Parts: sequence; structure tokens; C-alpha cells
Amino acid sequence: MTTISERLQAVHRRLAEACARAGRSVDSVTLLAVSKTQPADALRAAHAAGQRAFGENYVQEGLAKIEALGDLRRELEWHLIGPLQSNKTRVVAEAFDWVHSLDRLKIAQRLSEQRPAWAAPLQVCLQVNISGEASKSGLAPAEVPALAQAVAALPRLRLRGLMAIPEPAGDEAAQRRPHRALRELLEALRQQGLALDTLSMGMSADLEAAVLEGATLLRVGSAIFGARG
Ligand SMILES: *Cc1c(COP(=O)(O)O)cnc(C)c1O
Repeated sequence: MTTISERLQAVHRRLAEACARAGRSVDSVTLLAVSKTQPADALRAAHAAGQRAFGENYVQEGLAKIEALGDLRRELEWHLIGPLQSNKTRVVAEAFDWVHSLDRLKIAQRLSEQRPAWAAPLQVCLQVNISGEASKSGLAPAEVPALAQAVAALPRLRLRGLMAIPEPAGDEAAQRRPHRALRELLEALRQQGLALDTLSMGMSADLEAAVLEGATLLRVGSAIFGARG
């Protein structure tokens, strides 16, 4: 039996190796533990092994875990990485620290209006459909600049960067292509004057490719928690 602590260590070794290959400092990459379908106890085990940032796909499931781990709230950072409907924005604005899946202005406006005054601004990324898959959520690359400017102007949100879930690819060269495209899109936004620092990309199967292309936030699930049932 491999424990969560052992798997987490193995992911940190992969991350350190990828950073060494990329000539990057390990501090330049944050590991987000994607905990969808995992029970609160598994998150506690990851926390005991040093993990602090957790990503959830479903609003209700995420809220339940934020509550179950309420005693650790000050130490933890909660990221919503799955789709967000407008009727769920208030609870997300009240409970989460980050939203990675923003792709509509209406949702962004609601989150900004509903972010409580006592909380820090909500940290957000725009989700980009970088592989151009018909079924995937996210903006087409051409739609990104206009929404980025609009979101950056909202008072209670802080636009940090871009997120993508590329189509799975077998070899590293193929995995790098969509990650590179996302990085180039971020660089173009920076040239338009937006102060962005986050590329949310890379999962269990392609984290090396993502690090080589500049990922700053890796979203890793099964490599930490084991295969989902
Ligand atoms: C599930 C999920 C991940 C993690 O995937 P693994 O292959 O388990 O590492 C990352 N990002 C998103 C948006 C996900 O839904």
C-alpha cells in the first residue's frame, strides 16, 4: 500500500526534477492537490504531509470539505477548478480563495459583487479551451483579451492568469504544445499591460511538460490520492 504521504513525496520529486530540467526554482511552482471524490480524511492526510492548497471541481462537494476541514481553514487555500453556474456564485465568493474556471463576464461580475468585504479579493484565472475541443468549457483564445481587460477592472477580483485542461497527449513534445500556447497567450496579455503571474496547467500525466512551459500552478489529483473510483 502506498500512502498519500509517499505519493505526495513522489510528486515533489517529479516536480523537482522537472524544475531542474527547466532551470527553474521549485519555489516558482505551487502544487495544488486536486481532491475531487476524495473524503475529508484523505485531505487531512495530505495536510499532515505538508500540503496546503486543494482544488475541488464541484461546488457542493468543495463546500462540504471546506466545512469538514474548518479547523484548518487559516492554513489551507481552496481553489474551485470546475464549472461555475451563476446560481452558485455567492457561496463560492464567500468560501473559496481562488476560481480557475472563469469564462463569462456575468459570472465574474457576480463574484465581484458577492465577495464579502472582510475577505481578500477573490483570485481568479480565465479558463481557455486551448486544444479547441468542441465539448470543453473555456474561452477560445481570441476571446481572452477582451474578457481579461473586463475582469481586471472588477474591484473584488484579482485576475492572476490563465488555466487550461489540454487534450491528453502521449509524448512530452505533444504535451508541451498546448501548454506553450497558453504561455504565449499569457505573455501577450502582459504586453497589453496586465500584471499576470499564473499559469494553471499540468496534471498527473503531463506535469513535466507543463513545468517546462512555465506552469506556476499544477493541478494534480490521482498521482497524490491514487486512482479515482
Ligand atoms: C481532475 C482534474 C485534475 C487532476 O487530474 P489528475 O489526472 O487526477 O491529476 C486537474 N484539473 C482539473 C480541472 C480536473 O478536473
